[in-house]
Amino acid sequence: MLEEKEPRHAVIYSAEPPGPEQEARFLRFLRSKYGPETTLSWEKSDRYPRGFRMAVYTEFYDWSVDGRLRQLKDRLEDLPAGEGDVVPLLRDAVKNWTPQVLAEEEGTVSSVGDGIAVVTGLDHVRYGEILLFSTPAGEVRGMAQDLREGETGCVLFDEDGGVCQGGTVRRTGKTAGVGVGEALIGRVVNALGAPLDGKGDIQTQSYRPLERPAPGILERRSVSRPLETGILAIDAMFPIGRGQRELIIGDRQTGKTAIALDTILNQKGKDVLCIYVSIGQKASAVAQLAENLRQRGAMDYTIIVHASASDSAPLQYVAPYAGCAMGEYFMEQGRDVLIVYDDLSKHAIAYRSLSLLLGRSPGREAYPGDVFYLHSRLLERSAQLSAEKGGGSMTALPIVETQGGDVAAYIPTNIISITDGQIFLESSLFFAGQRPAVNVGLSVSRVGGDAQTKAMKSAAGTLRLDLAQYREMEVFTQFASDLDEDTKAQLRYGQGLMQLLRQGQYAPLAQYEQVILLTAALGRLFMDVPESETGSFSRELLEDFRARAPELCGRISATGLLTGEDREAILREARDFIARTAGERGW
Ligand code: ATP
Ligand code: MG
Repeated sequence: MLEEKEPRHAVIYSAEPPGPEQEARFLRFLRSKYGPETTLSWEKSDRYPRGFRMAVYTEFYDWSVDGRLRQLKDRLEDLPAGEGDVVPLLRDAVKNWTPQVLAEEEGTVSSVGDGIAVVTGLDHVRYGEILLFSTPAGEVRGMAQDLREGETGCVLFDEDGGVCQGGTVRRTGKTAGVGVGEALIGRVVNALGAPLDGKGDIQTQSYRPLERPAPGILERRSVSRPLETGILAIDAMFPIGRGQRELIIGDRQTGKTAIALDTILNQKGKDVLCIYVSIGQKASAVAQLAENLRQRGAMDYTIIVHASASDSAPLQYVAPYAGCAMGEYFMEQGRDVLIVYDDLSKHAIAYRSLSLLLGRSPGREAYPGDVFYLHSRLLERSAQLSAEKGGGSMTALPIVETQGGDVAAYIPTNIISITDGQIFLESSLFFAGQRPAVNVGLSVSRVGGDAQTKAMKSAAGTLRLDLAQYREMEVFTQFASDLDEDTKAQLRYGQGLMQLLRQGQYAPLAQYEQVILLTAALGRLFMDVPESETGSFSRELLEDFRARAPELCGRISATGLLTGEDREAILREARDFIARTAGERGW
């Protein structure tokens, strides 16, 4: 790097040499900016008709026709997007525009490969800045990722963009970001915010950087409002609050995505905006998921950010940050946002490839040393904002895939330590038909309890404890042949609870429905229901409640409270239902 004090030399390239007066003006400008000893020389070049180009070390001033037009273009790109006709806006922008003498920096590509370019000559480039690589076919975008002395490692967003060694690179001064706004809702976009669903351009309202500091302590308040998943096992035992970060963790094919999907479906009509970020998944799987959401009317409040397995590692790497930036825009308007990162294991792998290509030294499991920071700076951005900040929230459901149920591996332990709890899904439960396969012993929600409604809290009562006791007893009595009546009853009760927690996909339960089922089950009314009939029995029971006690259902929904009288009423009604239908059931 050039020392600040070292005298600099400037070169002017133009068709004709500058006149003496012009030269004096240049020198005055240069000496005021680069020090009194700056010198100037001229070189003939026919590339800049009606203008010139002046280079001072790595900076240059482009006063050619092309350069000035480019300035105008940059200015037009910065125009605020909005409704209405653009022509007057353009006319205005051009009328009040005079090209400025701006120092630009230009570098040279010294090597390129695998979506990574190493550039020299960009001394003032910042981390995360967007760089434009000139290629015969136009300009290709990249992002500065690795700032080393004398050279910069950049990731290219378009691997096959034709960037080659020796090509020029210019700085834009802008940090990488995405367009955000209402127009994104209902759309499927890539990690840079470009549409993937073939439904035309997206007119975003503003541009936000991908990376941003998380809200500070004073800008937050504690989690206090529930985010209902509609899944009984989760809402009753591991409640999630708005602004919370709850990890969904489990082996492959254990229903992780299904839980996130059901949670999104359950937000219908609850004024929660959902963002589903898919990282490194098959495009076909995401297309199916989008179709699923659309059919169930959930795309009206959902954005899908998709970086598929075949996208470059840089795109997979930026996808969650892009989704987060979109979410923050809505959160800052006081709205509630739910964001799903599916999944962060693949994100970490994309980051690992990118880091290895950039030549960073590998650490544990070949991940770079800062892989913890990769996810902490992402998840910290979820928050419940304080009333002064508008009171919006962003709830995060990151998903992590484990290998052989090993939650103690590197990436899982990192993310467990960042989040406010985890829902642990187990393959053995999943294959035994216990779906959602929530492992009650290993799952936890650290802050959601404060957000649970009083009705849910009192209805769920001792559910966790009872299940823990049941599991213990089940292990102890596994090989016993003659059990006393008490133990048998305990086991039947536990089995009934486990049965109750089975829930199909796309069948979310409303709060009052969960309260009724829990109250009845914990009141030991499900003990005599045969295993295979629990599902149909619960459905019919709820049907009966809706028909015969609509005020009770309405009251629980509206107030979120369960009074002692209502509890008695639920038990009475449920017993009555069992007595009435005993005949037709035959058990
Ligand atoms: P991957 O590791 O491949 O991402 P995953 O853990 O996300 O898998 P899903 O794709 O959500 O798992 O679910 C796997 C299969 O199990 C799917 O076919 C899904 O339909 C089914 N499934 C998930 N949850 C349930 C449920 N509660 N009831 C019935 N089937 C379910
Ligand atoms: Mg999945």
